[in-house]
Amino acid sequence: MDVEFEKYFLKKNSAKKRNMAWFKENIKYLGPDYELISGFMGTDRRVTFYHKECKKYWNPLARNVVYAHSHCPCCKSRAGLKHLKEYCENNGFTIVDEYINYMTVIRFKKNECNHIFKKSPSNLIHKNIHGRCPVCYRHFEKLDDDVKKMIQWRKDRNIPQIQLAEMLYVSTATISNTERGKRKLRPEEKQRLLSYMDSLTFRG
Ligand SMILES: [Zn+2]
Ligand SMILES: [Zn+2]
Repeated sequence: MDVEFEKYFLKKNSAKKRNMAWFKENIKYLGPDYELISGFMGTDRRVTFYHKECKKYWNPLARNVVYAHSHCPCCKSRAGLKHLKEYCENNGFTIVDEYINYMTVIRFKKNECNHIFKKSPSNLIHKNIHGRCPVCYRHFEKLDDDVKKMIQWRKDRNIPQIQLAEMLYVSTATISNTERGKRKLRPEEKQRLLSYMDSLTFRG
């Protein structure tokens, strides 16, 4: 075959290859949820799909569809929701509002204390240490240092409030109010607490 003719033949062939039929062949991976509503003008031009699942139009570069097998951005947010659900399950949170996307603020509930708070999923997952309740934590931060130590010590050892109340000769309500910052520890309570902390800590 003549070289020039061969070049012409290949060029014509490849040009012919990248037509609508070729494009349609290459978007099958998207499945029936994606409806192509634009023409195909070449791989460097944009095409438009209607994504039935999120009811939005999606305008990717044709080459990103054919060669990178990209998806409508809502699929990314679905991955975000999956991640968020896992995080909430493992850390005792409930998603109160409908999930919008990773950056949009919605309400969550901490199951342990029933506190409801607003955060973006991204902040909940990445800026929240040990899955703690932000409401309780904000509250905790404001308490006196000795009360903070008492709470930490009690929780570390799984000592119920009623048991701590008996140790300090006060009522459970008093312990509860102290932990919620509604009253301060009296000097004699602090004294008893310290001696219990010492004895229980040394006993291991
Ligand atoms: Zn979509
Ligand atoms: Zn809480």
